[in-house]
Amino acid sequence: MSLHLEISSCIRASSKMSDCTQCIDACPESITLVDNLPSFANQTGVEAAACVGVCPTEAFSLSDFSTTEFFFTFLESKIRLISPKLNVPCLSVLSVEHLISLALASEEEISIDLSSYDSQSILYEQIEARVEEANFVLSSFSDKRLLSNVDTIEIPKETRADKSKEEVEDRRSFLGNISLKGAVKHKMSFDEAVEAEALKVFSLDGDTLQKMKEKNLPDKRKILLTTLKHAKVPDTFEVLAEEDIGFTSQKFVDERCTNCQICYRICPTGALSSDGNFSLIHFDAMHCVKCRLCHDVCEPDAIQLQAGFEIKEFFEPTQRTLATFDIRRCNECGNPFTYQGGEMSCLRCSEEEEEAKFLHSNAKRMKAALQSNKEQKGKDNET
Ligand code: SF4
Ligand code: SF4
Ligand code: SF4
Repeated sequence: MSLHLEISSCIRASSKMSDCTQCIDACPESITLVDNLPSFANQTGVEAAACVGVCPTEAFSLSDFSTTEFFFTFLESKIRLISPKLNVPCLSVLSVEHLISLALASEEEISIDLSSYDSQSILYEQIEARVEEANFVLSSFSDKRLLSNVDTIEIPKETRADKSKEEVEDRRSFLGNISLKGAVKHKMSFDEAVEAEALKVFSLDGDTLQKMKEKNLPDKRKILLTTLKHAKVPDTFEVLAEEDIGFTSQKFVDERCTNCQICYRICPTGALSSDGNFSLIHFDAMHCVKCRLCHDVCEPDAIQLQAGFEIKEFFEPTQRTLATFDIRRCNECGNPFTYQGGEMSCLRCSEEEEEAKFLHSNAKRMKAALQSNKEQKGKDNET
């Protein structure tokens, strides 16, 4: 089992201003920063792959295990146990979104087998925290729960028999008793559902859809959106504290925003977007993966996390307008710019004008100094 990093999906590759260290914090022994990008030895073999489960943009993956494929094969199987002895290389490859989606999509309760982990280890703490977060978010709108089990668990017989025939290291061996054909069918219908339904919910136009595809919503978010569609809508909607939900957020933009355009141009998922004139900032919470890139790149610190996350977004997703701008044409160059009062000139022309004024006054000062020197010399010669 080896680790792969798709560098184009890493937000640090989009901007040097990104402070994301989630993969490094999760796997400090294997991953380091080199030239501002996450790096690890080629073909790093991994026992645990907490970086896979924690990366907001799914930049990390494993050579022989796909979390998306696991979602479908697990639901197809009769077994309701997720265990490193049975069907995952390590529980840490699953994100909070995967855990919520699995609990929602399963009729029966799912057990999480923590018995192989040292309860004092960082890995155990990370897995436990993800299960706790998944259960906490689930408790706000559903009666579904994941059961954490720290005692030795009886592995279902039919699976144990299969596994004894083949090597544990080969993921396909422990998925051997599950029909992959069915999984492919589910995967196709899942993709169709996302294309046909999930995107329609947001009433996006063709251009925005295209942009979103380029922007790449991670599979784990598509899975969550699809499972939420089939979940029972609660009678009332709760609001969770911002810090209690790690995989999405709600935001606002304050008056310090200069419409520099960076946040909505750089957002990896298209959660932040604008119109053709760049006259507003739109935000879709259900497309936000809380990677924090928009916060890291915003120089005036104008984009902020909302204190609470409204669970209503899970069931009635909205596209909110965080800011609108007065776009006008510059009197000097004719280009559109964000008007904030005062002169009708864009920032570039205003800066050029300031520079020209400075050069002009500087030239005047130098001329006056030369003249004064000349006059002084004349006086000196007379005496
Ligand atoms: S967690 Fe993902 S996005 Fe963040 S630095 Fe690591 S690879 Fe990049
Ligand atoms: S919120 Fe910040 S990054 Fe986004 S447009 Fe405004 S100033 Fe620029
Ligand atoms: S809105 Fe900000 S935090 Fe959310 S996905 Fe986009 S860049 Fe990341």
